[in-house]
Amino acid sequence: MSKRWEEERWGPHAHCKICGNAIPEGKTVCSPECQAKYDSEVANYKRSQKINYIILGLMGASILIFFLIANYFPL
Ligand SMILES: [Zn+2]
Repeated sequence: MSKRWEEERWGPHAHCKICGNAIPEGKTVCSPECQAKYDSEVANYKRSQKINYIILGLMGASILIFFLIANYFPL
């Protein structure tokens, strides 16, 4: 149903990011089990972000090297 209808019926609240249960506003998850899942998802996300940054850095570095080589060793 619409969000407005939900808020009228239940008052301001949030939903567990893992299972979707209604939880008090300001909380992220409903239970220690969901907290553990949420923590591991956050860790996974951070790890993949780090890999993305490394790949971006490597691409940037190889473009830089390419331009340096093209500059110093013109064919
Ligand atoms: Zn939950």
